[in-house]
Amino acid sequence: MDLKLKGKTAFVSGSTQGIGFAIAQQLLAEGAIVTINGRKQERIDEAIARLKELVHGATVNGIAADFSKAADVDKLITQLPDVDILINNAGIFEPRAFTDIADEEWLRFFEVNVLSGIRLARHYFPKMLAKDWGRIIFISSESAIMIPEEMIHYGMTKTAQLSVSRGLAELTKNTGVTVNAVLPGPTRSEGVSTFIQQLATTQNVTPEQAEADFFKTARPSSLIQRFADVQEIASLVTYVASPLSAATNGAALRADGGLVRSIV
Ligand code: NAD
Repeated sequence: MDLKLKGKTAFVSGSTQGIGFAIAQQLLAEGAIVTINGRKQERIDEAIARLKELVHGATVNGIAADFSKAADVDKLITQLPDVDILINNAGIFEPRAFTDIADEEWLRFFEVNVLSGIRLARHYFPKMLAKDWGRIIFISSESAIMIPEEMIHYGMTKTAQLSVSRGLAELTKNTGVTVNAVLPGPTRSEGVSTFIQQLATTQNVTPEQAEADFFKTARPSSLIQRFADVQEIASLVTYVASPLSAATNGAALRADGGLVRSIV
């Protein structure tokens, strides 16, 4: 299937590894011109080299910006004034007992996971409306609707993304712009490998045991009973980024391995 993404410009936040990297890879494979992002130029350069190896003839650039710093986002926007497709993927997660989460942590999670996408959309969304075409996709999580007891602050940010996403979609009436959220379930990214190690430490078991127990105890309703591959998330995101998905707007689309026990 031709997703008609050839020549479209895209920005993927937090894309030097994990789900963001896979999204960049698939958009490039469809012929889009992609700007990737991470916090360090060195990591960006490495990721660009890997993407060029994976996708022959890829047009890929990178901009370093830390989404916990508003000034970095301002700089990014100056360097990249316009995009057709905005993927708000950058995100942090870490297991922590509710009573141990200080105010600063709540604010840091909100700034990196929610405000990052808001700041970018505030700039790119009006431009998309003006040219009557655009795609904004928030990478939320199944944790937006199944709040994990081991990281309530993370769940809060993922629910907030759904609210912003649906709210922006309300402003797209009768235009060629869509705003959607994709909700991955547990997915084997670099970040999740670290998460499993942290979980193992808090549970005083080996990482292998923590992973085996994860689907039995923490996520028993998963229908696939395994971590998704990052490419399995990226393929849904790439479709939603495509002109072919024009009838999907204001949606929260699950790629959660059937974890959420809801029919619609
Ligand atoms: P990851 O940790 O492997 O990658 C996260 C990326 O975000 C990295 O490239 C990192 O450099 C970047 N990043 C982190 N903090 C940043 C900051 N302050 N400024 C700029 N970039 C920053 O994570 P992942 O698992 O690929 O997660 C990507 C997104 O998917 C996140 O929003 C996460 O909440 C969501 N998600 C992941 C899973 C999962 O199981 N992996 C499940 C549901 C949702």
